Amino acid sequence: MIKVLKFGGTSVGSAKNMKMVADIVTSEKATVTVLSAMSGTTDSLVRISSLSTQANKRSEIAETIDMLREKYSTCINQLLDSHKGEALAKMESVLELISNESDNFREYTSERLILSQGELLTSAIFAMYMQEIGRKAVLLNAPDFMRTDEDQKVDTALLEKKINELVDDKETFYITQGFICTNHRGEIDNLGRGGSDYSAALIGGALNADEVQVWTDIDGMHNNDPRVVEGTYPIHKMSFDEAAELAYFGAKILHPATIQPCKDKDIPVFLKNTMDPAAEGTKISDEDDETRIFHAVAAKDNITVIRIYSTRMLMAYGFLRRVFEVFEKYRTPIDMITTAEVSVSLTVDNTSHLDEIEKELASFGKIEVEQDNTIVCLVGNLEHSQKGLAATIMNSIHGIPLKMISYGASHRSIAMLVDTKYKKEMMQSMNDKLFGKENHA
Ligand code: ADP
Ligand code: ASP
Ligand code: MG
Repeated sequence: MIKVLKFGGTSVGSAKNMKMVADIVTSEKATVTVLSAMSGTTDSLVRISSLSTQANKRSEIAETIDMLREKYSTCINQLLDSHKGEALAKMESVLELISNESDNFREYTSERLILSQGELLTSAIFAMYMQEIGRKAVLLNAPDFMRTDEDQKVDTALLEKKINELVDDKETFYITQGFICTNHRGEIDNLGRGGSDYSAALIGGALNADEVQVWTDIDGMHNNDPRVVEGTYPIHKMSFDEAAELAYFGAKILHPATIQPCKDKDIPVFLKNTMDPAAEGTKISDEDDETRIFHAVAAKDNITVIRIYSTRMLMAYGFLRRVFEVFEKYRTPIDMITTAEVSVSLTVDNTSHLDEIEKELASFGKIEVEQDNTIVCLVGNLEHSQKGLAATIMNSIHGIPLKMISYGASHRSIAMLVDTKYKKEMMQSMNDKLFGKENHA
């Protein structure tokens, strides 16, 4: 049985937790173990990179590097014995590299190189521990097999070829880094924040694994965001499509791209809790839970809405195509869209080319841009033939002003745009009214 197990930052966040991870990896007979950086590391590395571009920040950079030294050396001292010296030397060389890159900061390349160090160091320490406790463990360098093209898409054919060559012994525990890759220029790069989940799914797909397990700090996918809402509960069974939709619309437990490689190969994904391995967690597969109407809510912040008012839209064809072409030109994906007689509203979360987009759209008519919005997405068995569904949903958020609604594109979800200041109230209200105690066992 081929299993790919991924452990997030908290799961490898201390010596104690790494020991629990080693127990899980051993008892599950993990084929490949994909690790994130110890919790907080990537945030610190992002901070070092950003400070490196500013004047007079040397002491803050040095402080952050010292903090990382403290965190990693504590872990190494508590975890390792015969490999302690080797691990501490590795840590020092990583910190020196970070410090040198920060001193000679090159736009683009230095940040990516700095960001990759968390996963590289954490996985090296863990592999040493596995060896120290007598496991046959081999550390694989993810940038050797995880490569992206100019559009930042992973070369899955190359991944499949390389990983199948590397992973060839059933008795070996293969350990590797999530998140990091090599880009089309041959430089070290990454798959975006939270990307270790995606790494694991891609590796699972490439190995045609029997299952992918994502181990984190919570007992599975909850019906609502536990960071925002009180009274959430784990969902034990969920379809690929629903999980993908929730991840896309902000359920942080999964990187948005995670599901697709597993869905393509029909590989079930299990979400499990490292701190409570006996908890059931969530199984994501092609099976749906037909027994409930409302399954879960997720939210995506930092959404910008762009409204275009144009009389040229009236009875015209080709208008929307021209609007979409502007977004295509600037490689900016659109999340939601609604249309009226002479206006169209669109939402985006990537605002890096907003100024150019606004300028080009201005040739169509009047443009309005509003920032600080949130998309709240409800997923479930939202059959269009079901009477009263829309009314039930709207009643659950009575009093919340909605800016946009997207309903009908699938039987699976309804997405609503609100000013971010209403997000918490709206999500809590939906939780209380649509997911009452009677709705879950
Ligand atoms: P890891 O470091 O293991 O990748 P993350 O912090 O990326 O962990 O993801 C786990 C966190 O996702 C949880 O601690 C929880 O706060 C958050 N989260 C957001 N939405 C959900 C949800 N619907 N179900 C479960 N967890 C969620
Ligand atoms: N360490 C990376 C991050 O914090 C990747 C991950 O955790 O999945 O974004
Ligand atoms: Mg994560």
